[in-house]
Amino acid sequence: MIQTEEHAETIFDQLGVRPIINACGIYTDLGGSVLSPRVWAGMEEINRRFVNMPDLLDSSGHALASMVGAEAARATTGAAAAITLGIAACVAGDDGDNWERLPDTSGMKNEVVIQRGHRYKYDRCARMAGVKLVEAGDEAGTTRDALHSTMSANTAAVLFPGHLNGKPGTLLLEETIAIAATNRVPVFVDAAYLNFPPEKMRSLASSGADLVCFSAKYYGGPNSGGFLCGRKHLIEAFAGLDFTRYESGRYRTFGRPFKLDRYTIVGIVFALKEWMAMDHNARWESYKSKVCLIIQKLSGISTVALSPGYFTMDERLLHEPINCLRLTPLAGTTFTAQDIAKELADGDPSIAALVIDDQLVVAVDTVLDGQETVIANRLLQILESTV
Ligand SMILES: *Cc1c(COP(=O)(O)O)cnc(C)c1O
Repeated sequence: MIQTEEHAETIFDQLGVRPIINACGIYTDLGGSVLSPRVWAGMEEINRRFVNMPDLLDSSGHALASMVGAEAARATTGAAAAITLGIAACVAGDDGDNWERLPDTSGMKNEVVIQRGHRYKYDRCARMAGVKLVEAGDEAGTTRDALHSTMSANTAAVLFPGHLNGKPGTLLLEETIAIAATNRVPVFVDAAYLNFPPEKMRSLASSGADLVCFSAKYYGGPNSGGFLCGRKHLIEAFAGLDFTRYESGRYRTFGRPFKLDRYTIVGIVFALKEWMAMDHNARWESYKSKVCLIIQKLSGISTVALSPGYFTMDERLLHEPINCLRLTPLAGTTFTAQDIAKELADGDPSIAALVIDDQLVVAVDTVLDGQETVIANRLLQILESTV
């Protein structure tokens, strides 16, 4: 929610930290997401009451499952936690002694298979559950035979980063699911940002993958939220080893450090509800109008080339749909995109923008209403002073 200026100053002064205008996009290091007033109101309301957490986890899980059309679901402290705990569920199953022993996985199925071309930043979160990652295939790619033969009696799951589906040299999700099924191995899909159009979430949930996780930071939920959905028996295993009943139950479960607040759970559910019902065309239109405003304000500047663009979730620059401004210093100018980014960052308020190759990229997905004018004015000031 947008704070009032006086209020913001007090908080930032008290904490000794500067607010930033985020023109980079959804990055955890910049705070991730912004909660809508309606989501915030729901979180605020539950903050005023206590609830039984296992009950809230069950009922919110039902709500999440029904929205994406999964058998079952469970809120988590983000997609990274969903990977660790979901893999833990595949490893430990419904055995309480196993929940307690993790991350010591001796005697359990403790290998997670991943295609060589699928190695990515978050596969480390699977290892946190005490498993070893085993690569299928090599630099040349992964064949069906390679995936098949990498699985053994020790394989707990196949980890599949959904955003890499279709990457050259890798097997498609449906092929992977088919091969894993013949080995009776569950497939875990990290679909952290595969939420648009919302129908995509439903199609992933019903793809035949056994577990699918999403991050709430990408759909307007809490930066520390997400959920795991999929097969009922795996979600039940996950529920068994999560953070509840650590004090009151029989087992010192593995999931205790991945604790959720009740208002985070509400944020995860309410934001998904909003995301499913949102007018996404209007959302994209608002990005476009912010970009157009900045371009228009800078129309008198002759030292840079300006164009609208699309900064993708996997950090590529394309043309459409529009969610960013691309600014390139022309040949013969004495400043670089990096120089401008530094001046933006050093100013007050600090503006965080991206530099990609020789371009300054101003991504507006996370630019709050009105901040585009601040960005435009600052760019104008910086560019005029460099003439
Ligand atoms: C952000 C991200 C995650 C981690 O999600 P959190 O909700 O921040 O824990 C996992 N996988 C991918 C692909 C992501 O982009």
